[in-house]
Amino acid sequence: MLNTEEIYKKLDQLKEKNRLRSLREVSSPNERFIVLNGKKVLNMCSNNYLGLANHPVLKEAARAALEKYGTGAGSSRLISGNNELNTQLEEAIAKWQETEACLLFSSGYLANVGVIPALTDRESEIFADKHIHASMIDGCLISRARLTRYPHCDMDVLEKQLKKSSAKNKLIVTESVFSMDGDLAPLPEIHSLAVRYGAMIYLDEAHAIGLGGDDGSGCWLAADLPQEESIRIGTLGKAIGSYGAFVACSKKMREYLLNHARSFFFNTGLPAPVLAASLAAVKMMPELGPVRDSLWEKIIYLHHHLRRINVNMMDSASAIIPIVIGDDKETMRITQELLDRGIYMQGIRPPTVPEGTARLRSTCMAQHTIEDMDLVLNALDEIINKK
Ligand SMILES: *Cc1c(COP(=O)(O)O)cnc(C)c1O
Repeated sequence: MLNTEEIYKKLDQLKEKNRLRSLREVSSPNERFIVLNGKKVLNMCSNNYLGLANHPVLKEAARAALEKYGTGAGSSRLISGNNELNTQLEEAIAKWQETEACLLFSSGYLANVGVIPALTDRESEIFADKHIHASMIDGCLISRARLTRYPHCDMDVLEKQLKKSSAKNKLIVTESVFSMDGDLAPLPEIHSLAVRYGAMIYLDEAHAIGLGGDDGSGCWLAADLPQEESIRIGTLGKAIGSYGAFVACSKKMREYLLNHARSFFFNTGLPAPVLAASLAAVKMMPELGPVRDSLWEKIIYLHHHLRRINVNMMDSASAIIPIVIGDDKETMRITQELLDRGIYMQGIRPPTVPEGTARLRSTCMAQHTIEDMDLVLNALDEIINKK
């Protein structure tokens, strides 16, 4: 283990680079406004896009499950922790995702570090977008498969890499909505390359679930791509407003993962109130069209006016809108200045994003108002353009 001096030194180094992370405390539900370190601020950095995390229907479902089943699952699902709500939720998700089956994981992180290694071996080659989430990178590293990265959404390079590869199994790993850039992977192109070169697609829909398509089932189905030609994972802690994750797959694949994904069987089952809240939210998905419309209204408004005030928001096409500042220290200074004005938009620094692209990662929620957006736009214009 590192000795105390080495640990202190590592902390000092982070501090010198303006990369030291720390926690802020929230003492309210995660909504349009939150109480942060005791102060009420406009929440511009939550993945609770549809406002379900404090929804009365989800809370009632969780409360009823709490009374019936208690708080903890007590064990892995393969031992005594397989509460019947797991089955109900898996069936509801499979129906929604148009797959034969579904397997729950306790989080998106655990799904990615469990499923990717289960799908590959030392003779496999993984082709991964440069900007994928750290949990998928960790899954790739654990897998011991050969890992080849392609520049963000660069289909020409991906094709060259696939063409060159002599690997027995090929797996393309990408997100549909990129978590830090808010742009979209070219799924139809990725699909044709996968078909042409005999690769499988592993698609993380964490930020598309709840939003993509008329029923919030994500970008893959919304693009009308064949459901059986990808392995899709989705998370339940973002737009779904609960916690956990799922893999939408065939019955055989479910059985295989249940036997091979270590993060599935070496992990305690989700608590019943969490499962019940997820189930209530998934059932609501087809009815939330007006909520999605309201979200898109804010997204389009913010996009339009951010362009007007000339900030760099990359190719965002979703509720995630990066505002690239570049310098780490300046990014954190702006986060603080916004906070002083009652707006919370967390600065994101490397290694979460590439060097030199530190940014404010802003996200819209359906519950935001146009007045909220104006407040944010005015503050950003003043801070960034008139400093
Ligand atoms: C948030 C996120 C995860 C992790 O999901 P958790 O349920 O929070 O562990 C995985 N992949 C992507 C793309 C994410 O944005």
